[in-house]
Parts: sequence; structure tokens; C-alpha cells
Amino acid sequence: MLVPTMGDLHRGHLSLVEAGGALGHVVVSIFVNPTQFGPNEDFDSYPRDLQADRAKLDELGIAHAVYAPPVRELYDADAATWVTVDGLGDSLCGSHRPGHFRGVTTVLAKLFAIVQPDFAVFGEKDAQQCLVVQRMVRDLRLPIRLVFAPTVREGDGLAMSSRNRYLSEGERQLATVLRSALDAAHSALAAGERSVSEVEAVMRSAMRSVQLDYAELRSLPALAHPEGASGHMLAAVAARVGHARLIDNQPFRIEDEAVVVAALDEDATPAAALQWLRGEN
Ligand code: AMP
Repeated sequence: MLVPTMGDLHRGHLSLVEAGGALGHVVVSIFVNPTQFGPNEDFDSYPRDLQADRAKLDELGIAHAVYAPPVRELYDADAATWVTVDGLGDSLCGSHRPGHFRGVTTVLAKLFAIVQPDFAVFGEKDAQQCLVVQRMVRDLRLPIRLVFAPTVREGDGLAMSSRNRYLSEGERQLATVLRSALDAAHSALAAGERSVSEVEAVMRSAMRSVQLDYAELRSLPALAHPEGASGHMLAAVAARVGHARLIDNQPFRIEDEAVVVAALDEDATPAAALQWLRGEN
């Protein structure tokens, strides 16, 4: 089973390793993938400390192997093959980071081919990434079962991210508005608001102190623009805080009056994967 990461491991990553450990032998890949970074993004400055990452994994004692290839092992100088998921990868983060998901799906196709995992674990924190990879696996008929693990947060609700280390103390305080915006969306929905534009306005208003990339309510799993808030939905936000670009999201299920916090895909939770595995054995 594979847990793909870019390293600088934090408790969010380690929770994926824990989820994976319940499903079989765990390989953690650590690779800062150049093709998923835009020309003006943080590829060069992205934190890299393989020794520290290995020490964290050793301490956890679950991972069986670390795969940390140099760039040339995954990309020949004249590499010409890309894996692209049309549509799903074009909106939200895709529209703010052109080519990002093409880089993600291309490197994952390589990692899947090399490691040949039966399961791969991803974090719900990157919900659009989960959905794009899910479509790639389905469309290419890859024999891999995906597992989406819940987002691990700091005490004040900020989603853990390697990019949080770019934040100054003041920016770290400001960054909590992403979670506040999702909570505000939840409150509005729970109070009966079903207009998508109203819920999005509530989220934008909660994020007025930061430079907004987007604050949107989309339907799952297609990330379509819904007519109204109902069924399985994703509230998704992204903003620039200082030098960091931060994202967060919250899936909901909205049925009549009831609004409940949901998983991104109930069939892909760690518990569902474990159940599936037990049923198979
Ligand atoms: P990254 O190293 O940022 O590419 O992330 C590697 C994997 O860890 C991805 O599947 C992310 O969604 C997941 N991840 C990152 N942050 C968190 C978090 N706070 N909680 C759970 N998973 C996370």
C-alpha cells in the first residue's frame, strides 16, 4: 500500500500512514514533484529534510519502506507523456494553478507503476486531488483501491500543511479564517440556507481579511455548480496568506432539514477499506 507525499511530514501525513498500516505493508513515497508546481510557485523553496522525515516514520514504526527517488528517476529529460483528467482538474485549484493536476496525475501514474500498490491513501484535505485521482484510477482501470483519510487539524482548526511553516505569527492567526469560513457555511446551511450564492457569500465574508482564491459550494463527486444546496456537497476554500497558499474544505450531506458533516466518499474511508479487505479475505 502506498502513501504518496512530498515530505516535510506532519501529523496529517502520519495519519495516512496509520490508516495504511491497518491495510497492509506501507510504502511512503517522498518526492517533491516538479511538474505540479507552476513557474512562480514554491518548488525551489519547498521544505526538504529526508533525514527528519525518516526519523518521524521510524518513530511511528508503521512504514515498511520509504521511496524517495531523485527527479531523474521519474522524469527523463525528454519525457513526453502526461496523464490528464479533463474537467475535474480544471476548476477550483486547477484554474488557479494551471497544469497542477496534470503534474499530480502524471507522477502518481509513475509511482503506481513502480510501487504497484493494492491501496493508495490520500488526505481529504486535498479533496479535489482525491477526486481527480479517483477519476484517473477509474478511467485507466488501474487495479488500486483508493482510501481518503480525514483532515488532521491544529487545535484552532487550521488544517495541517507543510506550507503552514511559511506563515509568520500574525499570518498564522489570520489563517484560521479558512476553517471559520467552512464553519460559517455549515451554520448557514444548518439554519436552512439553500442558495449556493448566499452560502458562498457567507464564506467569502468570513475570509475578507485574506487574499481569496475561491470560496465555493460544489456538488460531489463531479464538483459541478449545483442549482441549490442539496445532497452531497463540498464547501471548498483557498486563499493566500502571506507567502503561503492555503486550502481547506468540508463535505456535507444535505437532506431536507438535516445538514451533516460527511466524508468525501463514504466508500473510500479507511473504515470502508478495512471492511472491504475483511470481506475479501
Ligand atoms: P503533500 O505532502 O502535501 O503532497 O501531502 C501528501 C498527502 O498527505 C496528500 O494525500 C494530502 O492530502 C495529505 N495531507 C496533507 N495534509 C493533511 C492533513 N492535514 N490531514 C490529512 N491528510 C493530509
